[in-house]
Amino acid sequence: MRRKPYTEIGINRVPCRRCGGSSSQQWQICSLDNKWAGICDKCDIELNRIVLEFMRFTPNMVECLIKDYENRKEIADVKAIATSAI
Ligand SMILES: [Zn+2]
Repeated sequence: MRRKPYTEIGINRVPCRRCGGSSSQQWQICSLDNKWAGICDKCDIELNRIVLEFMRFTPNMVECLIKDYENRKEIADVKAIATSAI
């Protein structure tokens, strides 16, 4: 973890704070002196789900928002693959 956000390239080299996998996202944790922690896609989705539930979104809203978030991530992954293939 570090005080400045990781770069888009650098985040891939950081292990997920939760499971040790390859990070693709990062979260700033206020209770850890605002340090940034790397997190993998799977853990990022679960963390988003926990936050939405904590914020008292209805279960239906949580499912819709998480599905939308997962779809946006898949689209971003497809775009990244298409760009790297060029
Ligand atoms: Zn993880």
